[in-house]
Amino acid sequence: MALKELFERDWQELESGGVLFSSLEKLVAWGRSNSLWPATFGLACCAIEMMGSTDGRNDLARFGSEVFRASPRQADVMIVAGRLSKKMAPVMRRVYDQMPDPKWVISMGACASSGGMFNNYAVVQNVDSVVPVDIFVPGCPPRPEALIYAVMQLQKKVRGEAFDNYGTQLPMVDAWTR
Ligand code: SF4
Repeated sequence: MALKELFERDWQELESGGVLFSSLEKLVAWGRSNSLWPATFGLACCAIEMMGSTDGRNDLARFGSEVFRASPRQADVMIVAGRLSKKMAPVMRRVYDQMPDPKWVISMGACASSGGMFNNYAVVQNVDSVVPVDIFVPGCPPRPEALIYAVMQLQKKVRGEAFDNYGTQLPMVDAWTR
């Protein structure tokens, strides 16, 4: 993106929000994006790769997201790692509802995003029908690096720095409006 466009955006922001509030909003978003805490929630084999993302080799801690919380009330990211059975869907929704706003969801692996190889009556075919998904991670299973990349993309969305293929800025993710 050209430098001129960057400044133009800042200028428009300053005009609409004022110096204090536009800067404060950015500071809060920056803080949030660097302390995304996932809920401890694994469903199947993908969860092993999710655990692998916090080991010494991959070190998710570099991005401030290594603190997997045992209580949904202390988490702001749900990583749906693995296939979701229809029996488990209401439980997962309850965990999501117990997480405080703002909150985000990463759908990890082919099973969570599309049912994967389990095209049958017992498995939810897309977790987006149960909870609103922000990032989909492809693969069976996705490697820990893919999950770390997804966390980095989510950080960009939270900070309002994500762009589509045409270079248009995507809106900042705001879970209150969901
Ligand atoms: S995507 Fe593959 S690794 Fe992940 S839960 Fe499904 S079968 Fe297991």
